[in-house]
Amino acid sequence: MEFIKTGRGGRKLLYNEYTYNVDTKINDTTYWRCEKRKVCKGRIITTNATLPESSSDHSHPPDSAHVSVLKALDDMKTRAKQIEEVTSSVIDKTIDEMPLSICGSLPKRETLGRMVSTEFCPLERISLEISCINHGHVNNKPWLSFPI
Ligand SMILES: [Zn+2]
Repeated sequence: MEFIKTGRGGRKLLYNEYTYNVDTKINDTTYWRCEKRKVCKGRIITTNATLPESSSDHSHPPDSAHVSVLKALDDMKTRAKQIEEVTSSVIDKTIDEMPLSICGSLPKRETLGRMVSTEFCPLERISLEISCINHGHVNNKPWLSFPI
């Protein structure tokens, strides 16, 4: 069981290669719903951070690539906060450490750049955006041009 932070201060739960969003939280008990809530009734209940209290079946197979991408993006944001590096370097390292098989599932570099730059203060963000633009022009080739 693993928790990752989402953009707006929320959390996701990764368990058995399924992804869950918080449904409700009552005292120490958190009720999670499968990320594919429109098509799936998969749920998990947790009261501590080790093992789920209970879980229900999913209507679809687990998606290990999706889970790997979420983990990689979480690592990337952590790295962006901790280390004083330019965005492109943070992104490059994230990509380097990622199995090739899931690189195709990553968001576009622009999107990654935005995700990283929101972790910095505004002044840094402006210069990072400029460096991202320059980076794109210098190489003059689209970086990971896979669909999200
Ligand atoms: Zn599900």
